[in-house]
Amino acid sequence: KTFKDLGLSEQLVEACENLGWASPSKIQAEAIPYALEGKDLIGLAQTGSGKTGAFALPILHALLEDPQPFFACVLSPTRELAIQISEQFEALGSVIGVKCAVLVGGVDMMDQQIKLGKRPHIVEISASIWDACVAHNFTARVLCVVFLQVGTPGRLVDHLTNTKGFSLQKLKYLVLDEADRLLNEDFEKTLDEILNAIPRDRKTYLFSATMTKKGAENVMVEFSLVSGESG
Ligand code: AMP
Repeated sequence: KTFKDLGLSEQLVEACENLGWASPSKIQAEAIPYALEGKDLIGLAQTGSGKTGAFALPILHALLEDPQPFFACVLSPTRELAIQISEQFEALGSVIGVKCAVLVGGVDMMDQQIKLGKRPHIVEISASIWDACVAHNFTARVLCVVFLQVGTPGRLVDHLTNTKGFSLQKLKYLVLDEADRLLNEDFEKTLDEILNAIPRDRKTYLFSATMTKKGAENVMVEFSLVSGESG
């Protein structure tokens, strides 16, 4: 199969080619057609399987058709992962000038508020990445990638509560990456607050190396289970 066969728009097929992605990985081939049908997904896939592309490509496909700020929110358990994800979104979405915001804890709240206030925008914690985004002159669409650290209050929730003009009420996609690490008691309260702040009719993608059906049912009602494992 090719990326074109999966039903992705021409620009995204080209973006994959530009990254040297010759053909979809297994998880991409399994997940993307379901996602393009508008289904919720649980993807069983390890890091290195191409799982980021499996959720980023359908989101970018939808963003192309309906470019809006605060379109998708990706929750991930580590800062490093959040940054890697935003980099893949930006690489795949550079043709459409996708803008990524990475919100993390442990940095100045005011600083992030000022950045969030300049919509449309990119927000980053580390000045170097912020500057890099500005230098790339991303202009129109925002994607929010959020880092939640175990034991710290979710910074996203702080912003939803305290930052004027920042809202996820029109969010179309929620992704939980490494969801097995997010769907636990440490994150329960934060996750509940996020789920309360976003529309119920969004699409939800869970990606995880392991996942129980029960864990998934906390955040999803109906979904398709796809696997990047061979066999
Ligand atoms: P991930 O599992 O999402 O962390 O991706 C791991 C690495 O695989 C990243 O460096 C991606 O750029 C790369 N990658 C993702 N999809 C493909 C593909 N279809 N072909 C080749 N490399 C890919």
